[in-house]
Amino acid sequence: MEKLLVTAIQRFSTHDGPGVRTTVFLKGCPLNCFWCHNPETKDLKNEVLFTPADCIGCMACASVCPSGAHEFENETHILRRDLCMSCMSCVSVCPSSACEAAAAEMTVDEILREVIKDKVFFGDNGGITLSGGEPLIRKEAVELLKAAKDMGLNTTVETCGQVPREILIDALKYTDFFYWDIKDTDSARHKLNTGAGNEKIISNLILADSMGALTAVRCIMVKGVNTDDKNIRGIAKILSDLKNCKAVEFMPYHAFGGSKATLLGLEDNGDKSLIPSDEEMALVKARLAELLKLYGVSNISVL
Ligand code: SF4
Ligand code: SF4
Ligand code: SF4
Repeated sequence: MEKLLVTAIQRFSTHDGPGVRTTVFLKGCPLNCFWCHNPETKDLKNEVLFTPADCIGCMACASVCPSGAHEFENETHILRRDLCMSCMSCVSVCPSSACEAAAAEMTVDEILREVIKDKVFFGDNGGITLSGGEPLIRKEAVELLKAAKDMGLNTTVETCGQVPREILIDALKYTDFFYWDIKDTDSARHKLNTGAGNEKIISNLILADSMGALTAVRCIMVKGVNTDDKNIRGIAKILSDLKNCKAVEFMPYHAFGGSKATLLGLEDNGDKSLIPSDEEMALVKARLAELLKLYGVSNISVL
């Protein structure tokens, strides 16, 4: 079985599902949201996080790099990511941590050995949450969920929904709860801002719901992008068709992704002007609550 790429294991999380949880962030995502706050989880391959300020210029990286990706010009160290083959050799020889791996390669057993250390804190309903990136693009994530269930752990998955249907159907057997992103109900705008339309995401959500999956829908609100009334009406319509959705959580865009983006050689995408105000968030929530009432939906909390 292929190893999973783990960007972080976050302990004592209280926002990623019921109870106290250990959240495992897996690398690789089929979407490319411009507001992504975890840019190091997007690429399917492992990547070098490069901090030029920590480089002492020893050139050990260049001596082991099989593709000549580390270039030194006039005492400036340039990492040519277009040449990088993700072998991580430079990471293993760098003496100053200027080169670090974005993710660790781990087997299902290795991940669970880490997670189970926290079992005493899980209580009755805590457990493991898979996040990312998108956990359900790799079938190995289903093996992880299955093994976690075998250990008696509660399992939660945070998904963007743009996942292969056969993996989703398998994952449904071993997942107690899903956080399911709806980023925009306007498919053309969804494609413009995330790289893909929303049809598969919504049809997968409807399928999962019809198969009994318990969900909370998550909507990241990006000011001037998806905070319009048409989108809120679209969300209300989708929710009104779900039988097993327990809540909808509106979360404001935040600008924390930028600093990580620069370590990956990407443009800093943190833009504070896209953060909705508290008043705007309150209006969005009130509008959705009003629409759900009109649809006769009473089982979904608006958070
Ligand atoms: S990961 Fe491998 S290919 Fe990429 S820069 Fe480092 S040594 Fe070179
Ligand atoms: S091995 Fe590390 S410290 Fe040495 S030149 Fe490369 S990045 Fe800089
Ligand atoms: S779905 Fe999540 S991880 Fe993937 S690009 Fe969008 S914000 Fe980033």
